[in-house]
Amino acid sequence: MIHTTKEGAGALDLPDLSLFERVERLGKAKKNNVEMTEFIAEVLDRDEFAFGMVNNKVEKLYDRMKTCASWLTFRHYVEHNQNRLTAANFCGKHLLCQACAIRRGAQKLQAYSQRVDFVLSAQANLSPWLITITVKNGERLHERFEHLQKSFQLLQSRRKKHLQNPSRQFTEFAHINGAVFSYEVPKSKDGEDWHPHIHMLALCTKKPEVGHVDPATGEGFGLAKEWFDITGDSFMIDVRRNENQDVIEMACEVMKYAVKFTDQEPADTWHAFQTLNGRRLFGSFGSLRGVKIPESLLDAPLDGPFVEYVYRYFGGGQYEQVSRIDFSDSYEAPMVRTLPEGSLSHIAPSL
Ligand SMILES: [Zn+2]
Repeated sequence: MIHTTKEGAGALDLPDLSLFERVERLGKAKKNNVEMTEFIAEVLDRDEFAFGMVNNKVEKLYDRMKTCASWLTFRHYVEHNQNRLTAANFCGKHLLCQACAIRRGAQKLQAYSQRVDFVLSAQANLSPWLITITVKNGERLHERFEHLQKSFQLLQSRRKKHLQNPSRQFTEFAHINGAVFSYEVPKSKDGEDWHPHIHMLALCTKKPEVGHVDPATGEGFGLAKEWFDITGDSFMIDVRRNENQDVIEMACEVMKYAVKFTDQEPADTWHAFQTLNGRRLFGSFGSLRGVKIPESLLDAPLDGPFVEYVYRYFGGGQYEQVSRIDFSDSYEAPMVRTLPEGSLSHIAPSL
């Protein structure tokens, strides 16, 4: 169960928002999906003109994205007073499609919120911190992303080695008991360069020291110095906590999507997809490692009577309700079947 304020939910589509808010959020995302789909249609036309044939893979992708989120089925569970998205036709391309990205973010948040709560309640000495790790902007996304990923992996490996054997090189990351992180790959504000960076929620025994470094001499201390030594060109690291923000709101900042769909041109989103499709842009370590994120972009249904709403995408960022069926009168609680002890089915139910 997620307990976060609506503001903290950011752009994610979470089950404890009202039905109106959820449909509204997905409507805005579908509008962006339509813009992206139109861009892909132009790519297909261009390819056909240049090469005399269409790229089958891109055509397939276009078909999937075009129909994505064109209809949604929600159930409002009367006794729980909660909404669940129980059916929809998602494309699953969360680097290209904002509708799928906000569903994926919501699923991650659902999965991690429980683990974060559990670890924090079991270990009173831990406190949550939001850490942002950046590399210097650059023209080539692939090169900048690889640089960030390799450098970050080295920092994680130093932490692991130091925790296993404290005589090994110290790192401020050793204060992290567990963390969940995601890569974000937007264009820089001027639209010229790529600005890949990492957002991380870290549960720490002590706040990691940011410190500082003089890039001219390499002199300094703390994470800034460590990061500069590893990357050779970057030292921007931020560690912060807003006292008014609860830990799940902090987690929302990490679970938001990898590309800035509305702030950049579709051509840039397309380039990021082509460069990074299939790469792992999300991960965790320490006590937050190994949390399973459901494959499905739908919510798990609840028990109990419900009213079902079906929405169809109308255009311009709007859905229209096409049906409302009240199943609460016809709902029957699942029967619990008890078998006589010693019966064959009781002993071997799989027969
Ligand atoms: Zn989609």
